[in-house]
Formats: sequence, C-alpha cells, structure tokens
Amino acid sequence: MPLSTPHGGKLVDRVLRDGAQKEAQSEARHLKNIPLSDVAISDLELIATGVLSPLTGFVHQEDYESTLSRMRLKNGLIWAIPVTLPVSKEVAAGLRLGDKVALVEPSGKEIGLMKLEEKYTYNKEREAKEVYRTTDEAHPGVARLYKQGDVLLAGEVWMIDTPSTVTFPEYRRTPVQTRRIFEERGWRSVVAFQTRNPIHRAHEYIQKCALEIVDGLFLNPLVGETKSDDVPAHVRMESYEVLLRGYYPVNRTLLSVFPAAMRYAGPREAIWHAIARKNYGCTHIIIGRDHAGVGKYYGTYDAQRIFDELPPGEIGITNLNFEHSFYCKKCGQVLTSKTCPHDSSNHLIFSGTQVREMLSRGQAPPPEFSRPEVVTVLINAMKQPAAVA
Ligand SMILES: [Zn+2]
Repeated sequence: MPLSTPHGGKLVDRVLRDGAQKEAQSEARHLKNIPLSDVAISDLELIATGVLSPLTGFVHQEDYESTLSRMRLKNGLIWAIPVTLPVSKEVAAGLRLGDKVALVEPSGKEIGLMKLEEKYTYNKEREAKEVYRTTDEAHPGVARLYKQGDVLLAGEVWMIDTPSTVTFPEYRRTPVQTRRIFEERGWRSVVAFQTRNPIHRAHEYIQKCALEIVDGLFLNPLVGETKSDDVPAHVRMESYEVLLRGYYPVNRTLLSVFPAAMRYAGPREAIWHAIARKNYGCTHIIIGRDHAGVGKYYGTYDAQRIFDELPPGEIGITNLNFEHSFYCKKCGQVLTSKTCPHDSSNHLIFSGTQVREMLSRGQAPPPEFSRPEVVTVLINAMKQPAAVA
C-alpha cells in the first residue's frame, strides 16, 4: 500500500520563495490591506502549503454552497468545511473584483496576496446548521461564525511571508516534507492522530493499537486557535516530547504540528481532519468517540458514522474507529469496552475536570492513568497561571 494520493490528485504549493517572494512583498506594500483573523492566518498557511489541497484560495460561492448542501466541492470532490475569508461590508465595498489585495496580520505584516475574484453575502444560520448541526451561540464554532464579517471574499492566494504567529518551527512541516520523511523511513502506511489535549495512557493505548497494524504513527497535534480552557499548545508540545522520548519507538513515530484552528464541528470536522492528514501522506486516521466535538452537540458516534455515509473508499483515507479506553484493575491493563468484560467499578476513569483539579493541587493522577513524565510537565505548567490562562 503506497502513501495516499493528495486530495484531488495533486499537492498545492502557493508559497512564494526567493525572487518571486521579494517581488510579491514589494508589490503587497502598494495594495489594499485585508486584515486577517487568527483563523484566516492559519487557513492561509494551510492552503498555501497544500494541507488543504485541492484548495488554492478562499472558496467561491459555488464551492461554498455545494460544501454546505452536499459536503462536496462544486467539482464533486468530498469537502466538509468551507474555508472562507470573511470581512465587514465596509471593507468589501472598498474592493474591486480583479484587483490584487494584501493579506495582512494584526502586526501589520503582509503575509499573503489574493486575487479578488468574487465577493458574496451568506446566511450564517444556514452555515451553522449545516456545518455545526446547531445554531446555538454557546457553541464556540457558531459563536465565531456569528461574530465574523458579513461578506466573504474569494480568490486564489499566495503566501509571501511566514506569519509571526508561527510556533514550533522545528515541528512545522508541509505535506511535501512529511511525505518525504515517510518515504525515507520506508513507511507505506501511516496513521494520523489528531489531538488538542495532553496524551494520557488511554490515548497512548489507542495509538499503539493502531501502530500494531501500520508502519508509522503521525502524531499531529492541532496548534491553531482553540478554546481558552484547552491546555495551551506549548505545554502540550512539551508533554508530547517527554512521552515520545520515553515510550515510543523513534523510527516509527513522527511528531509534527497541525497549524489549523479548531472548529469544534464534530462529524464534519472529522472529515476535514481526515482530508488534511491524507494530504500529509497518511493512509489512516484515528477517529475516537465524539471526535472534534464540544459539549453535547454531537452523538458519541456521529464522527465515526459520517465516514460510513460516504461511498466506500472515495475519501482516500481509512478511518480507524476507537472506543474510549481506560485502565481496568482486573485486567491489569489499558483497554476498552470492546475488550474488557468487567464492570466500570473496576475501571480507572477521570473526567477532564477531575484531572485538571488534581493537577492544579499538584496531585499526580495514578501512573495507570498518566505517565509520570507527562504529569510533571502538566503540574509545572499549572504552577505558572499565566502559562495556562
Ligand atoms: Zn477488565
């Protein structure tokens, strides 16, 4: 089994380099500025580096509508979440179709160019209903959608400079780079693990189960914008580093960041995450219960079922569905309800809130729940309130 083919057949590369980059940078200084949100900054990077292949820019209305109504781009290719560039009506009114505009981050640095091909209004409630399956403003993805501008700009983009928000440069790899590493290591099958949390024994078990049947594990934590109560990315990265160092086979694991913003769109985001990992070269992706969910908006298995609703094989990456896992005192190991016959009184289970409370008291969860090295990283981070705020 070879590495997966990029979505749509070809990896997109819209990062300008060398002479072309310098030329574009000086051109951008004379263009109208479009201010980018943190989400738009990460979307620009994802598009330009090919993570969102086949997208070459922020989507046109036809692709937008088609994605909402049938979860496909206009050309029929499976696509789950429209990647848009929202601006206010005032900003949109000052722009002419056909013009190039500079995409600018809050610091004032021009990081991209876009050829403005279309501007259109849209129905936020409809997008909320289709993508998030709810119009409740308490949903973080819906809240962000309702707050954003009322006009969407569409057109091809080029990245002309690295965003200053870029973190973890040593772990930031484009799909071209990850594919090269997979090939150099001789991996023919690779499983992706998406996370925005520290990895406890339960996740480790799932990853290692998957790694028993494929060549490589692509640990791909999301480091773009998340909810403020999620563990900050730099703390998570440190916890992954100590874990990998102590407990994972070096030549079968690759840690690389996923610079996307979290949408919390549950099932649709599971599909979107799968496509991005396919572009990185992965052949498989782990989908747990309530993948990319938040609160009680999605059913436990919705994010797994949505893959079954697609024609078999069409998406081009295989989802490996997992149950929650836990340590069972009778079994003496971590496993899941699929493999443990004992009732839950034998299971060591803590909620996220319980774990946070323990850590904030400086109390370590038992080693059957979390590796001591990981616990140390998390407790130290808790001692610096600014770092986890
Ligand atoms: Zn058991």
